[in-house]
Amino acid sequence: MNIFSKKSVYYRLKIEMKIRFITAFHLGSGMEGEAGSDNGIMTDPNNMPFLPGSSLKGIFRSTVERLLSTLQLENIWACGLQNGLYTTKPCIGGGVTKENTTYHEANKQYQDSNGSNTTLIEQNCCSACQLFGSPLTAGRLYMDDAFLQNPDEFVLSKRDGVGINRDSGTSMDSVKYDYDVANTGLKYAISMEAQEVTEEEMGLIALGILEWKHAGIRIGGKTTRGLGHAIIEDISVSHLDLTKAEERKAYLLKGEMKKETNVDEFFQEKIDKIIA
Ligand SMILES: [Zn+2]
Repeated sequence: MNIFSKKSVYYRLKIEMKIRFITAFHLGSGMEGEAGSDNGIMTDPNNMPFLPGSSLKGIFRSTVERLLSTLQLENIWACGLQNGLYTTKPCIGGGVTKENTTYHEANKQYQDSNGSNTTLIEQNCCSACQLFGSPLTAGRLYMDDAFLQNPDEFVLSKRDGVGINRDSGTSMDSVKYDYDVANTGLKYAISMEAQEVTEEEMGLIALGILEWKHAGIRIGGKTTRGLGHAIIEDISVSHLDLTKAEERKAYLLKGEMKKETNVDEFFQEKIDKIIA
């Protein structure tokens, strides 16, 4: 057994959202575009623009990490692994690097205890790496790929960009390029599931979701030029506690999870637990 072993899953929290783009967006494919531009967008097998779960999860993690660095809560913190900003201290999740003293100290304690001290992860891994994962720890939050809900309204177009000289901030006329964009008004259903989450982690998820609800979500590239702004139109929350006989039966027989009737109240209750 090692300190990074997985636990059984008894609790699942599922959050589903409907979002709508209020601007055009460009989630780059890194390849030539269908509209004949240098930079295409990510598309599904039907050639419709889609939002990969990994991208959505990365955006959500950034949102949560930003909130954590602003709020400076006592026991809930982010090492800033994703954004490369070590805030308070490095965590185990940062991996086996020479500078990551947290990793080496925890590993020594683990060896000294002959493998019996299994709380080292919780003590030395930041809240963000525990929830979202790191090179050394498995996360417990998953996001599905999101497919286009209103494909009849999809229009692909091409936009011109101008290369910016990063040193002077001025445009470089000689460096012209273009990129594909998907139009405004496109709708997606986003689904995330978190397993074995603590009350604090539910509070973190609630904070991130409410931030998305109030400020919108910025998805893809060129967001500083006004692209990629989506708003949440509907949120639903359901959960499943497999230790409860009634919920277990409903799930195993009918695949049903318990739906939260008052979502706002649910989020508020979870946030109250982490913010005084
Ligand atoms: Zn971390």
